[in-house]
Amino acid sequence: MVSISPKPGISDIIPYVGGKSNLSSKRKIIKLSSNEGALGPNPLAIKAFDSCATSLHRYPDGAAEDLRNAIGERYNLDPKKIICGAGSDELLTLLCRSFAGTGDEVLYSEYGFAMYPIMALSVGAKPVKAPEKNLSANVENLLNAVTSRTKIVFLANPNNPTGTYLSSSKMSHLREKLRDDILLVIDAAYAEFVHEGDYEPGLELVNEGENTVMTRTFSKIHALGGLRLGWAYCPQHIVDALNRIRSPFNVSTPALEAGIASFSDEEFLTRSQNHNDFWREWTKNELMNLGLSVGPSVCNFLLVCFNEKKNHGASSADSFLESKGILVRNLTNYNLPNCLRISIGLEEEMKLLIDSLSLFLSQDTPVFGKD
Ligand SMILES: *Cc1c(COP(=O)(O)O)cnc(C)c1O
Repeated sequence: MVSISPKPGISDIIPYVGGKSNLSSKRKIIKLSSNEGALGPNPLAIKAFDSCATSLHRYPDGAAEDLRNAIGERYNLDPKKIICGAGSDELLTLLCRSFAGTGDEVLYSEYGFAMYPIMALSVGAKPVKAPEKNLSANVENLLNAVTSRTKIVFLANPNNPTGTYLSSSKMSHLREKLRDDILLVIDAAYAEFVHEGDYEPGLELVNEGENTVMTRTFSKIHALGGLRLGWAYCPQHIVDALNRIRSPFNVSTPALEAGIASFSDEEFLTRSQNHNDFWREWTKNELMNLGLSVGPSVCNFLLVCFNEKKNHGASSADSFLESKGILVRNLTNYNLPNCLRISIGLEEEMKLLIDSLSLFLSQDTPVFGKD
């Protein structure tokens, strides 16, 4: 008999499944399943990472001072209100641990990032989903789902996996109508890819009150997912709370150094943005020419939906692409079984993707049943 068991909520968690990353075969794979930044890490970040090798016996700077100063300088923020984490995932978890617990509710949007319910359950809180409209978060629906137990609202803006975003005026409206004692966490993992004039990553809302946090990551446009590095911009009292519970050396030295180096090269960042703008548009047009429906993404991925009736559904497309060595993200765990999420990769990767999908759609498939 097992006499110890995890705290309530833990056994209810369905573990997070990341994008597929490896095929058993030895051939080269094209990985478009985790939105990792097509151009790879900045060469200066790679150099900074290498230069840490001989001092790996030293503990990192637990205060991440140089990195916080670099972030502060780049975005004109007070470094005291910045906290760094082992990926933004760590910071989102710390926010849950600090501000929600048993009996509390954590609210998120229907197709919001899959980690939010996991984090809520991990602290004994109840995850609550607000319905979306047209695959976009909806402010009224979020507000209607608030109860006296709501403690945190998690909102990815723009959102993964839908690629849609809310304008800064809608975000302000949400903050205005939310009770003051509810923490609004704006997860801006894809902010650097967005050029829309009515978008704001959340800095302004953090500045305007004491109850909004913005999180960012080095895993997407900076392409440092393997290092685990993220940061949050918060009101002072929130940084203070998170600093009390984080592990004292939560970010490794190579991550700190590579992060600083990534910020030192504006040109590479611009090149990454331009690459994404061009190939997202190109890929979207090609997919639509193939008769697929494609969401209006402002991120470095596309939400592509298939027509299940024609026997060319998303799951067969997923398997077909995998057989060609192309990995994309199926969205069954998001309740979007007809859709795939496809990251923007390099030119040749996008061309191979389109060629493969074109072949897939042109093939007759067996008819298993009658319409
Ligand atoms: C990728 C992603 C993250 C996690 O980023 P890490 O910094 O690698 O932990 C957070 N939120 C969203 C919406 C993401 O897509």
